[in-house]
Amino acid sequence: MRIEVDPDSGFCFGVVYAIAQAEFFLDQGIKVYCLGDIVHNDKEVERLKAKGLEIIDHEQLKQLKDAIVLIRAHGEPPQTYKIAKENDITLIDASCPIVLKLQNRIREVVREAPEGSQIVIYGKPGHPEVIGLLGQIPDDAHVDKILITGEDDAFEKIDFSRPIYLFSQTTKSIDKYYKLGETIKKKAAEYNNQQVFFNDTICRQVSNRDTKIKEFAKQFDVVLFVAGKKSSNGKVLFEAAKSVNPNTYFISSVEDIHLDWFENADSIGICGATSTPAWLMEQVKEFLARELNTYSV
Ligand code: SF4
Repeated sequence: MRIEVDPDSGFCFGVVYAIAQAEFFLDQGIKVYCLGDIVHNDKEVERLKAKGLEIIDHEQLKQLKDAIVLIRAHGEPPQTYKIAKENDITLIDASCPIVLKLQNRIREVVREAPEGSQIVIYGKPGHPEVIGLLGQIPDDAHVDKILITGEDDAFEKIDFSRPIYLFSQTTKSIDKYYKLGETIKKKAAEYNNQQVFFNDTICRQVSNRDTKIKEFAKQFDVVLFVAGKKSSNGKVLFEAAKSVNPNTYFISSVEDIHLDWFENADSIGICGATSTPAWLMEQVKEFLARELNTYSV
């Protein structure tokens, strides 16, 4: 039995930076609050909570005064910075530079786009990054903000007779986003060749892993994909692995493993999302080596 952890899986640099920032302060005994889960992985959140990190929501932020609050890699809308300033809160801003660049680009479009334009964001409703992106467009702006989850609501919500500026949440599937972009362009062409400004805002830390994870998943009889249930890129990368290896299972921890998955297997691959800690994948490997009474490499 061969059991291997994918060397290319695990935290992206955005998550590494946010966690390093939190630990830098926590290790000095300084109280740090984090606005929302620092990473979409319950096990890693539990580990940092044990070191003293306190997770708060936006309502709790409003009540907090003179404290240190970490902004995670997903970024925040301008309103959060305003509240922090009013409440004498010191922010440790660990917004990922890729997300900040996207937020800046949206603000530029708000300034430059002609009256009646539509800023369309392809993303998951309620996802913190998406809330941060939509927040860059003031409610009283001269452009409309529209959130879409795919082709169906794109056709429902977009007015194809007006200019369209299309953006994506950074962790969506690159293939799906490009396909959606083509569909929107085709539809807009029917309306006097209306302009569609397609912005490729997919993070390459996710899209490059798509190919790598497929290569990895092909090499094993069974693949365990380890990620938190709230992880968007976890869903994308899990689908990528499963598309090349139907014996791919989504797990969040060793408790989700069923040993009968491995009955006729000679090899097991373990991989994960950009929010999956390396230690958790190693834990899965050790568990399998022990439970299957075998050796690991
Ligand atoms: S997935 Fe990409 S955009 Fe998101 S935090 Fe990681 S590096 Fe940044």
